[in-house]
Amino acid sequence: ARALVEVRDLKVHFPIKSGVLFDRTVGYVYAVDGVSLSIPKGGTYGLVGESGCGKSTLGRGLLRLTEPTDGEIIFDGQDIRALSGEAMRRQRRRMQMVFQDPLSSLDPRQSVESLLVEGLKAHGLAKDKAATSRRLREVLDSVGLPASALRKYPHEFSGGQRQRIGIARALILGPELIVADEPVSALDVSIQAQVVNLLEDLQSSLELTYLVIAHDLAVVRHIADTVGVMYLGVLAEEAGADELYAEPLHPYTKALMSAVPVPNPTVEDRRERILLAGDLPSPANPPGGCRFHTRCPWAQPTRCRDERPALREVRPGHRVACHWAEEIAEGRIRPHEVEA
Ligand code: SF4
Ligand code: MG
Repeated sequence: ARALVEVRDLKVHFPIKSGVLFDRTVGYVYAVDGVSLSIPKGGTYGLVGESGCGKSTLGRGLLRLTEPTDGEIIFDGQDIRALSGEAMRRQRRRMQMVFQDPLSSLDPRQSVESLLVEGLKAHGLAKDKAATSRRLREVLDSVGLPASALRKYPHEFSGGQRQRIGIARALILGPELIVADEPVSALDVSIQAQVVNLLEDLQSSLELTYLVIAHDLAVVRHIADTVGVMYLGVLAEEAGADELYAEPLHPYTKALMSAVPVPNPTVEDRRERILLAGDLPSPANPPGGCRFHTRCPWAQPTRCRDERPALREVRPGHRVACHWAEEIAEGRIRPHEVEA
């Protein structure tokens, strides 16, 4: 399918300031440091990684809620980084965000009606009262909430209902792309499935394209067609969801997956736990060469330290940023023992 959005070599660097008298830039946090990915129209891309890996910043950068430092964001054939003023405002209607914690992203003093109307007003779309009221009811209905919700306040709802309001808020402008940052991680497990199902139903009825960000591999596996794994601002691996879960090829992905407890594991499910050396390095001072080399149990002398691996296609549709992906997959390079 044709890409609705394509990110090319996107970078989001934050300056580190120092000095009271002189506001000097003394360094940068390389939160996103050259990510390329593509999401087909109607598809779902799942982005996973530990907290601090840059996945939220990538989501915000893609929507230009945080201004990228470099790279291209091609949306429906147009580089939206070149847009400004009214053109960018029109573009914003086409791409919206759903946040992790619906309570903290919703103003508690505003009724649901005013929270929803706000988005319309910002785009000059709340002029006709009858049409606005119709649109509010329609969008609430689409997320499974009654019209009576309009007069209530966020605290009067359960966590799952609040996330429905958050989704309604994202939908009211009729977007084509939704970036959902940890959309269910603040919710009880029993409610998570309902919200995931709602997102899937909305996707098919409204032809939405999703970027779903999560630290929880299980959530993304269920909803995503393609999954990308981020480590320290770069993509370590990308593959179809089933393929990635069946056979992760990047050492970091292997380690992440080995840490996931499988309910009622069969013998094959019991993956050997892979322990990583040391802590996550700072994104202000990422290791050179392969970013994972300071912790990788398969790291080989000199090349892993000196040469940044490109994200390359190792199998059809399966991209891996590791110099030794084939050798590791074939067992020709064995992991060394690490001290946990
Ligand atoms: Fe590990 Fe080297 Fe592969 Fe990086 S390139 S993941 S350090 S083996
Ligand atoms: Mg985050």
